[in-house]
Amino acid sequence: MPLAILPSAPLAPLTTFGLGGPARFFAEVTEPAHVAEALAWAKEQDLPVFILGGGSNLVVADEGFPGLVLHMRTRGQTWTKVGTKAGSAWRVEVQAGEAWDDLVAQAVQRGAAGIECLSGIPGTVGAAPVQNIGAYGQEAAETIQSVRVLDRATLDLRDLPPGECGFGYRTSLFKREPGRFVILSTTHGLAADGRPALRYAELASAVAGQLAPTLAEVRQTVVNLRRKKSMVYDEADPNRRSAGSFFTNPIVTAGTAEAIADRAVAAGLIPTPSAMPRFGQTDGQVKLAAGWLIEHAGLPKGFRMGPVGISSRHALALVHHGDGRTADLVKLALHVKGAVLERFGVELVPEPVFLGLDWPAAVAAH
Ligand SMILES: Cc1cc2nc3c(=O)[nH]c(=O)nc-3n(C[C@H](O)[C@H](O)[C@H](O)COP(=O)(O)OP(=O)(O)OC[C@H]3O[C@@H](n4cnc5c(N)ncnc54)[C@H](O)[C@@H]3O)c2cc1C
Repeated sequence: MPLAILPSAPLAPLTTFGLGGPARFFAEVTEPAHVAEALAWAKEQDLPVFILGGGSNLVVADEGFPGLVLHMRTRGQTWTKVGTKAGSAWRVEVQAGEAWDDLVAQAVQRGAAGIECLSGIPGTVGAAPVQNIGAYGQEAAETIQSVRVLDRATLDLRDLPPGECGFGYRTSLFKREPGRFVILSTTHGLAADGRPALRYAELASAVAGQLAPTLAEVRQTVVNLRRKKSMVYDEADPNRRSAGSFFTNPIVTAGTAEAIADRAVAAGLIPTPSAMPRFGQTDGQVKLAAGWLIEHAGLPKGFRMGPVGISSRHALALVHHGDGRTADLVKLALHVKGAVLERFGVELVPEPVFLGLDWPAAVAAH
């Protein structure tokens, strides 16, 4: 199909928040070759370009985006069984527009282990490396063997090995330098006939009654756990208009974590410092639970500020209840951030990407 560039298209229906204004120009990318063609067209017009996947980690400004939005809709999964020293493994190359959860479903069906705990995460495969999606003890980066990208400046194709992707907790080179590459496909290595990973305490205890849970059972358990927290996209769920977690979990030094726990004790929020949830990292740092900080800063689940609020099932998810504007969501996010800063001295950092909006500028103006 030839590339069709449309003048003006609403973006809100293409995001899980259901918020934001239109794109000045819009194109659906159904073939990898469309990307270079569209980038060249935008360069001629001197227009900025934004790459859109499933819109599940995105906050679009009410004013919209004054450039070209490329909606990644390329499809295809190529599965190959390969021999390794340890036996056999699966290699799969997946086009950027595939739904991430369809990839997980295919993997589980084949007995291919490595991404089963990432079941139920909305969005596309092409966006998975961007914030190195993670849940229940796994991260996308653990299985990524290479990322095929188009360099937006030179239009060169490159296969980036994981070492060049700068993966970290909910971040990567692609998130830090958003204007540099378009991700066309990813290649994952998965263990053939592998066992599910049960590293996350909540997941391990949910399958504790089963002798040797299969990949399919772990996938189903993860989806069930996520559903209880409104962390799968479900049209029937009143908390559905969100981007999942709105803030990343802060990572601080052990000393800072202790000081925050002491502050919580002094404020009468918890009886002892050990009552504050925290997770030691391999580098000695400590990950705090942003949802816990929000609730203990006086903002409970179900908190409302007009048309937006905090999910009734997850303190870390901000939700649009309908008939709102992005400005309402940003106001709520600033309110939540301010409450946590005031009570604990911790600076929450948003996880979603802002389009047409500058979060640091919004913070500075607050
Ligand atoms: C209910 C819910 C639950 C969630 N749970 C989790 C979770 O458990 N763990 C987690 O990590 N995330 C979670 N998320 C966030 C989100 O699902 C992921 O970040 C997902 O990877 C976003 O994919 P997307 O296709 O929707 O990306 P979009 O929102 O469309 O885009 C996000 C960013 O990726 C860029 N991008 C997208 N595609 C490409 C491409 N092909 N090339 C270059 N850049 C690209 C965009 O430009 C943008 O900067 C959740 C979201 C929701 C709504």
